[in-house]
Amino acid sequence: MTHVVAPVVENIYEEVVRRNPAEGEFHQAVREVLESLAPVLARHPEYTELKTIERICEPERQIIFRVPWTDDRGEVQINRGFRVEFNSALGPYKGGLRFHPSVYLGIVKFLGFEQIFKNALTGMPIGGGKGGSDFDPKGRSDAEVMRFCQSFMTELYRHLGEHTDVPAGDVGVGAREIGYLFGQYKRITNRYESGVLTGKGLTWGGARVRTEATGYGATFFASEMLTARGTSLEGRTVVVSGSGNVALYAVEKATQLGATVVACSDSGGYVVDEAGLDLRVLQEVKEVQRGRLTDYAERVRSARHVAGGSVWDVPCHVAIPSATQNELDADAAARLVRNGCIAVSEGANMPSTPEALAVFRQAGTAFGPGKAANAGGVATSALEMQQNASRDSWTFEHTETRLEQIMHDIHARCAEAAEEYGTPGDLVAGANIAGFTRVAEAMHAHGLV
Ligand code: NDP
Repeated sequence: MTHVVAPVVENIYEEVVRRNPAEGEFHQAVREVLESLAPVLARHPEYTELKTIERICEPERQIIFRVPWTDDRGEVQINRGFRVEFNSALGPYKGGLRFHPSVYLGIVKFLGFEQIFKNALTGMPIGGGKGGSDFDPKGRSDAEVMRFCQSFMTELYRHLGEHTDVPAGDVGVGAREIGYLFGQYKRITNRYESGVLTGKGLTWGGARVRTEATGYGATFFASEMLTARGTSLEGRTVVVSGSGNVALYAVEKATQLGATVVACSDSGGYVVDEAGLDLRVLQEVKEVQRGRLTDYAERVRSARHVAGGSVWDVPCHVAIPSATQNELDADAAARLVRNGCIAVSEGANMPSTPEALAVFRQAGTAFGPGKAANAGGVATSALEMQQNASRDSWTFEHTETRLEQIMHDIHARCAEAAEEYGTPGDLVAGANIAGFTRVAEAMHAHGLV
């Protein structure tokens, strides 16, 4: 990476790279956090003395396992499963499972590392972890996905528990997969332990608003950033990347808040419609039929599909990147700024490259980093755990009000930490500092563990 890290943390970064070779995404995530921490170390020498940062960079436990299963033709398939239990200073390990062919240890560690600070920022009692597999659910039948999930859980179950490690969904893991995983956990353990997984179905322990939470939360965060600058989403043009769980509900909430969402994407290209995307058709194509955006463009006549292009070519006031890591580079950032983009709220994890971030900083674009802006998902998972623990079930309105308040508080925590440590308005620094200090204080209290 091209950024200069203060000498006090440069050595720590170099050691992380040396100990974790060929894990580029993990290095990138660590560097982004370390870049913000020099002023914290200057004020808290005990964190240097006790090697708090070095300990945070080393996962508490990493599990890698074989996942054998049989496809519909009777052929044996072998995938690799991962769970990285990164940090339990604040509560049980908490973080999603990603099923995607690109998954390897470096991706899981970057996501798990981000998750530590994200979870801390929510103010809730949850530690950080992440997991997944290089299994690709695309094109697989329901029966194949079920057999894979059962095999995956047959190994993973021994590491989980409502007080130990509580996975959720992520890319490629939605309500269907969580259902199969929960069913297998229950069968093996003979326990109806609702709090062991979040993102469950509403009829068997799931929480209202969990499906919507990350997309809604990223939009609330965009709204908070605009309010802090004396404006709002009302009447704004928005572009969202991706068309999965996060993207769809960012489209919905932005529209509800008076904006017009003109484009979204998938890995095949993007659709654009100046009149605003039709959420119901999008949901049907993506959630029900598991189809492509080309199907959407065939059904909505005012929409145009652009194969293979960059959705960031579409002019907008607010961008909500909600697809995947490093999907928005410096060129795309420069185009967004040139086209009048005033705010970026990251629905995905680390979607902006460090170079893109530098462009936004230079331009003074309001920027909400993923670990703050997309924390609404895990926060609502923590609300699901609360409801499971008390055998309760809250209304949609109550849960959404809680989510909105949580996003308001996260924004405030980031803004206050940025101010306190001399970088007012820099929510990247603020998120890293506020997240880190909460975890570091708890680790300090627990002694050398
Ligand atoms: P989904 O699997 O539901 O959707 C991912 C979407 O991104 C799909 O539309 C996919 O298209 C698209 N996509 C993936 N790779 C690319 C690419 N290279 N270029 C363009 N589009 C791409 O995942 P989620 O919506 O759950 O997650 C999206 C992001 O949000 C991830 O970074 C995830 O870690 C993060 N996140 C998710 C949370 C959640 O609650 N779900 C919580 C916090 C963060 P295609 O179908 O063609 O592959």
